[in-house]
Amino acid sequence: MLLIKGSNEVKKAISFLKNSRKTIGFVPTMGALHNGHISLIKQSKAETDITLCSIFINPLQFNNEIDLNTYPIKIENDIEMLINEGVDLLFLPDKSEIYPENYKPIDFSFDGLDLIYEGKLRPGHFMGVANVLKIFFEIIEPNYAYFGQKDYQQTLIVRKLIELLKIPIDIKVCEIVREETGLAMSSRNVRLNETNRSNSGFLFKILNELKEDLNNISVEEAIELAKSKVALNAEASCEYLDVLNRDNLEKWEEGYIKNQSIILSAVKYGNVRLLDNILI
Ligand code: AMP
Repeated sequence: MLLIKGSNEVKKAISFLKNSRKTIGFVPTMGALHNGHISLIKQSKAETDITLCSIFINPLQFNNEIDLNTYPIKIENDIEMLINEGVDLLFLPDKSEIYPENYKPIDFSFDGLDLIYEGKLRPGHFMGVANVLKIFFEIIEPNYAYFGQKDYQQTLIVRKLIELLKIPIDIKVCEIVREETGLAMSSRNVRLNETNRSNSGFLFKILNELKEDLNNISVEEAIELAKSKVALNAEASCEYLDVLNRDNLEKWEEGYIKNQSIILSAVKYGNVRLLDNILI
């Protein structure tokens, strides 16, 4: 695996590979890798000639300084995992490589999609995500880019970004990888204490029950029931839990529940925010 820190070196390597007609799959991450990240890498390896993974803790997408300063870093372990997976290139830039000193973030227009749910709770988060991805996309010019369904709202933002930038990148969304308990894997899960970790499957279970309940009771009742089940768990508080149109995250309406909806949720559990969703 080639480890590159400079964007010009990445551009050179990519230009060489593209001249040899290789397709490039890009997997952006913030490191502290787990099997969720690895599933994206496996899919890229299966579908493209060259897989490039980036590790960059993007300060622009953090709305909380403590979260940024305590974000888990495991670079040695990450490198070993990437080598084991047969990743071709690791792009590991410093902050100054991505954001020059006078960098002015672009204020993209996402028609309000960046201001609801995760965007409402984490002001500026999606602008930060969009800015860093624009920079990465311009350096790497991948044919495909891989994202996890776990961050579902992010996948919608990325699709809008691609449209706005008019760049021909095929966005691939990969299924959520879970712990045995049902907990969606996340780098931040290391912050769960042992008791909470062993109980952390409750959210996925509640979302599945909600999906079933939608066949029997009204959407509003089913959502309320699910929220009351979340509240039964000590240290858990529901930030949002909703049944939405999966294309635009508008509230569910009579008529499009089948095949077009998503149950989207965020629950604060101890000091960790658990994000989860299931498609209906
Ligand atoms: P992160 O390092 O948290 O920025 O995540 C990098 C990519 O991995 C994002 O596209 C995430 O949605 C994806 N990802 C994170 N956790 C999971 C998971 N449990 N299953 C599948 N993809 C995931």
